Amino acid sequence: MERPIKRDFKRPTHINDYPVGPQYEAGFLAETNASWRTFRPVIDLDKCINCLICYMVCPDGTIMKREGKVAVDYDYCKGCGVCAHECPKDAIAMIKEEL
Ligand code: SF4
Ligand code: SF4
Repeated sequence: MERPIKRDFKRPTHINDYPVGPQYEAGFLAETNASWRTFRPVIDLDKCINCLICYMVCPDGTIMKREGKVAVDYDYCKGCGVCAHECPKDAIAMIKEEL
């Protein structure tokens, strides 16, 4: 699966370097989400039946299969909990982040 590309933030040095609107060029993420997430989804693979409902409902597309098992890309997961809410087997627990 193709992943978003993270691009390092280049501090503008001239007024012309600033974007005209609030949008950012498609296909790039300026920063990962991990620093501001308060809860992270943790998948219990013993309960998981590989239905991939979590994959379909994740608004950020951060659930994938890694070596045949469902996994979360924590660099881009925002911790919204939709996957945990929709999992039919209660296989996803939202665990508070520890800093
Ligand atoms: S929704 Fe739950 S059971 Fe289905 S693949 Fe995701 S974690 Fe596994
Ligand atoms: S917590 Fe939200 S962003 Fe993270 S994997 Fe689940 S649905 Fe996706």
